[in-house]
Amino acid sequence: MTVADRVVAYIGLGANIGEPRRQLQAALQEIGALPKTRITKTSGFYRSAPVGHLDQPEFLNAVAELDTELSPGALLENLQEIEKSHGRERPFAGAPRTLDLDLLLYGNETIASARLTVPHPRMHERAFVLKPLLELDSVISVPGKGLANTFLSACSSQKIERID
Ligand code: ADP
Ligand code: MG
Repeated sequence: MTVADRVVAYIGLGANIGEPRRQLQAALQEIGALPKTRITKTSGFYRSAPVGHLDQPEFLNAVAELDTELSPGALLENLQEIEKSHGRERPFAGAPRTLDLDLLLYGNETIASARLTVPHPRMHERAFVLKPLLELDSVISVPGKGLANTFLSACSSQKIERID
């Protein structure tokens, strides 16, 4: 590997059952301990109303910026292992979760495989992704879509609050 193989990736973290704050903090440590990976920035934590399946507890969300030499597929696998170790289950789409780790952006790459779509297909519609992401980089672009900050106004009905 050379320096040129290092990529800046962004991970969206979310939790709304168990102990969300503890789970997000633990997940950040575990992501930072992945091989060939370090966390370069972490957003504050945000409390957000559920989107989609509405009858569930509010979420705690954050975004982390990584510097990684893992491939997108290997990164996703590692993130899914961390989700599993925190008791993540998938009874139905949009269900409450102990830990959700989404690969939002992987450099400027666009990926469309059976297991992985990057940029994350719904990230530009979600205040709980856009707000913490823009806190880390206010001029960041979503490949194929445009500047992330141009999507925030369309999310103004989504309730979200930065808590620290
Ligand atoms: P969601 O986060 O949309 O509620 P899940 O966490 O249950 O959904 O993920 C469902 C599937 O989405 C995963 O099995 C994974 O293969 C796939 N997936 C596709 N693109 C991504 C991505 N960018 N980040 C995380 N998972 C993804
Ligand atoms: Mg997910």
